[in-house]
Amino acid sequence: MRFSIKRIIPAFITASIILGSVSNIYGAVVNMDLVYDGVKHKYSAEEVKITIDGNALASLDVPPVIINERTMVPARAVFENIGCDIAWNESTQEVYIMHNTDLIVLKIDSNEGTKNGTPFYMDTPAKIVNDRTLIPVRAVSEAINCQVGWDDVTRTVSISTSSTEKPDDNDENSTSDSTNENTGSTSGENSENNNGSSSGNGTIINPIEPGDNNNSSTSDNSQSSSGNTSSNAQTISITGITIPQAQSAEQKFTINSSGEIGAYNSFVLENNRLVIDIENADMNIANTNITATNSTIVSAVRSAQNQTEPTKITRIVFDLNSPADYSVNLSSDKKSIEVLFAVSHVSNIALTSSDGADYVNIYGDTELSVETYMLTNPDRVVINVFNAVSSLKDTYDGDDCNYVKDVRTSQYDAKTVQIVADVNRLVEAEVIKKNGYTSVCITRSSLDNISYNASNHTLTLLNASDISSSDITQNDNYMGRTYKLTLDGDYSEHFGTGTIKCNDEYLSSIKVGLDSNGNTYFEAYENKIVAVKTKEYSDSIEISFVSPKEVYDKIVVIDAGHGKNDNGASGNGLTEKNVNLQIVQKLYALLEADPDIKVYATRLDDSYPTNASRAQMANEVADLFVSIHQNSSTSSTPQGTEVLYMNHTNELSVPSSKLTSKAAAQIALTWVINALGTTNRGIKERPDLIVLNQTNVPAILIETCFISNPDDASKVNNEENINKLAGNIYSAISNMLNDYDLR
Ligand SMILES: [Zn+2]
Repeated sequence: MRFSIKRIIPAFITASIILGSVSNIYGAVVNMDLVYDGVKHKYSAEEVKITIDGNALASLDVPPVIINERTMVPARAVFENIGCDIAWNESTQEVYIMHNTDLIVLKIDSNEGTKNGTPFYMDTPAKIVNDRTLIPVRAVSEAINCQVGWDDVTRTVSISTSSTEKPDDNDENSTSDSTNENTGSTSGENSENNNGSSSGNGTIINPIEPGDNNNSSTSDNSQSSSGNTSSNAQTISITGITIPQAQSAEQKFTINSSGEIGAYNSFVLENNRLVIDIENADMNIANTNITATNSTIVSAVRSAQNQTEPTKITRIVFDLNSPADYSVNLSSDKKSIEVLFAVSHVSNIALTSSDGADYVNIYGDTELSVETYMLTNPDRVVINVFNAVSSLKDTYDGDDCNYVKDVRTSQYDAKTVQIVADVNRLVEAEVIKKNGYTSVCITRSSLDNISYNASNHTLTLLNASDISSSDITQNDNYMGRTYKLTLDGDYSEHFGTGTIKCNDEYLSSIKVGLDSNGNTYFEAYENKIVAVKTKEYSDSIEISFVSPKEVYDKIVVIDAGHGKNDNGASGNGLTEKNVNLQIVQKLYALLEADPDIKVYATRLDDSYPTNASRAQMANEVADLFVSIHQNSSTSSTPQGTEVLYMNHTNELSVPSSKLTSKAAAQIALTWVINALGTTNRGIKERPDLIVLNQTNVPAILIETCFISNPDDASKVNNEENINKLAGNIYSAISNMLNDYDLR
């Protein structure tokens, strides 16, 4: 058999009747490779079940799979159960399905089938999958006058043979059809298949008492149980679930029952759902969806009567926030199942030093998830231990260490233990997994004489008496969100090379290095566009990264509409995105030459920033936003200039001395018409445009003219006119920024 189906639930599931009323509880997952159309497809989806007149089809040799949103089944195994005869014609690649006096013919990979010679259409054709013939269950069932239903919760295709309706008026488009035969989860390559195993992710928290549990043998899927066998067991009642007392308490959930629990089975689905099936059990839990769990690991606990025949099964599903260690144990009186999730306990910390390195050794009861970063001023290494708790409050002295002065611990939040190592200089920290503990190795950083203060976003160059701030060149690459300061000369001996983590509102990090010209650079990676202020002291230089409005009095963001794959309008041989860019490039040069104005552009090449990011940039830095576009119409007649704006709510009742979008639109309109001699189409309020309605500073969109109109197009298809236009828009911007109150 070429199929390899990993069943993670014992076989009784497929043989059972799944009640339609079962709540949202998950079935088994089918993981397999499907080879069809000459390609191997990874298939991972919850099991699809088939019922015929309410009876589940048991043990299909090939599981139903969903291809192109349609359930595909092995022809013989399904349709012989409806009284069909199936035949296969190898030479013509046709499947024959004979039902009473009807003959259905399906050709492999053909969307057209025939019924008694009359064609019908299938959106997914019969296919050879892994050398087996799979056919679309709905199309064929309906062709033989059966009714087909789909239950998305239980993922069950139900075929009813009692229908006497003609198939011609079947409801192929009913709500229970096309949308729900979807593939569901197809990604879960990590599905755990822990049949019968009672702890997950390799760590057993508490040893499992032999015989208290039903670890089934690996060679078959039958249930083993302690004492009771499933056939003669008394039915018990699952009465409730006890949750942990608090997030900080032991993460133990208890499933309580009215009597002794016999067989049960636990397994993990797709890493993040722990399922526990309890046999011979009525589900009598009042709250079937517990979402207040007192747990950082478990987001919800759901319960359902998953099966009633041949045995009753109560299913409990723990939805996990992330893969977690757990154990499942029967209590000593066998009347409850205890499910324990591991929160790591940081139990001890030790400091050691050897070979010029310091080690912060962190001991826990499970493997710890650790992240470190360096902060300066004062210099310290922050070590976060995730999904962990600790009651350690001691300060550990670094007397024997090279760099570590002391180590402090705290419970940073419900999930995180924070360990801070105060150090006497810039260091590097590396996490090393040891046998039984985690070690953070702290070594001398090659960075030196440099510190960063996140509270005021200031980089300080220390012992820098021979450096003048005039030796520093600034390169504001705001479009690439970096700001690079280059210091003439090689100071790598003095400052070292490496990266400082900033993690503040403005900067994520600063890289210190030596460029190809032998000069030292400090490259800041921005979270927001920044400007730079430098201060020189006798022995140090402070470089502060600040909001541009702290440095510049008048800031405009100019925007060439469209770009890259978005051409905008076109006409008379012109493409809008290019015309917009030409104008903006000229305009940018003029604004850059003006010492009173700071200009930023959303793009200066054929790229495409999203409209939302253009508006965002304006809000971040600008006093004024000007977007350049060309208009067009389906008719070549319309021509002229219009300027679009929106009355922002913060502009509605301001003094006339303050610049508003509407005032800006009127100024721009006049200057553009003067440049090109275009028709005045006026200013227009357009609250539907992202760059106008998502900006909170005065914002306008200039439609300079209609490139669909030959007269207008010839005006902007001319370099002299473009220069004139850019010059006039520059004058307009200059007027707006100089004649009005901006802030
Ligand atoms: Zn446009």
